[in-house]
Amino acid sequence: MKICRFGDNRLGLVEEGEIVDVSGALDLIPAATYPYPAGDALISRLDVIGPRILELAKSGRRFDVSDVAFLSPVANPSKIIGAPSNYERHIAEAGRDKAISAGRKRSTIAEAGLFLKANTSLVGVSEGVRLRFPERRNDHELELAAVIGVECTNVSEADALDVVAGYAIGLDMVVRGPEERSLRKSIDTYSVLGPWLVTADEIDDPDNLDMWLKVNGEDRQATNTRHMIFNVARQISVMSSFYTLYPGDILMTGTPEGVGQVLPGDVMEMWCEGIGETRVPVMEESAA
Ligand code: MN
Repeated sequence: MKICRFGDNRLGLVEEGEIVDVSGALDLIPAATYPYPAGDALISRLDVIGPRILELAKSGRRFDVSDVAFLSPVANPSKIIGAPSNYERHIAEAGRDKAISAGRKRSTIAEAGLFLKANTSLVGVSEGVRLRFPERRNDHELELAAVIGVECTNVSEADALDVVAGYAIGLDMVVRGPEERSLRKSIDTYSVLGPWLVTADEIDDPDNLDMWLKVNGEDRQATNTRHMIFNVARQISVMSSFYTLYPGDILMTGTPEGVGQVLPGDVMEMWCEGIGETRVPVMEESAA
């Protein structure tokens, strides 16, 4: 099942180039009382809401995919986790291009582990990336994103893929420079997720997916996720050894080689095997 959020907070099922409005399924989410439970209320109930989505899709209003504005398929993650230096060829290009690391020592994921991005940076593909510092170098980082489905902690590698609700394309946008990642990768709109969530049952092996990113039609990044140094299961095991994961938590699994600058007016096109193709516009933050 491919689930999206679109338009004015509508819930959609993706079916052969069309989006079916199944927003009625959200009625299965009970009204929350304060303090609200951690995690995303939709993702945490997918087992119940999923069958209702399929039922409503028989009669729901249909839209062409190209007529829909996509929001992030996860509305309220408790955290967004990033993986640094998880592809050897990206580590190599960062060694050649000093602007990528701004003089910092590069360490691999095995040494550095994972990092956090602010939740407020999250957007859907149609919202676009807004450059707050357009005079600085802003880079795209294409990544496979895994969305956690259940509350869990200390998850073994063997069990790790069982806690995944689904997968999406992730963009870990970054402004290059001296500040900590938690600032440079957390600018509003610098975490893009979408265009939809593909439930985990549709992805046989997240560690063997082709993906690519183009800017204005020019090839920039292309890889297969089998080149990750830490695969998806290992990343989940590592992060859950430090903190509890909640439904809706988003793991961006690291970027391959080919990162590069984007400028206002650019369009990033992205594709991932098993997920699909989408586009993300780039603009200045001050643009209307
Ligand atoms: Mn990244």
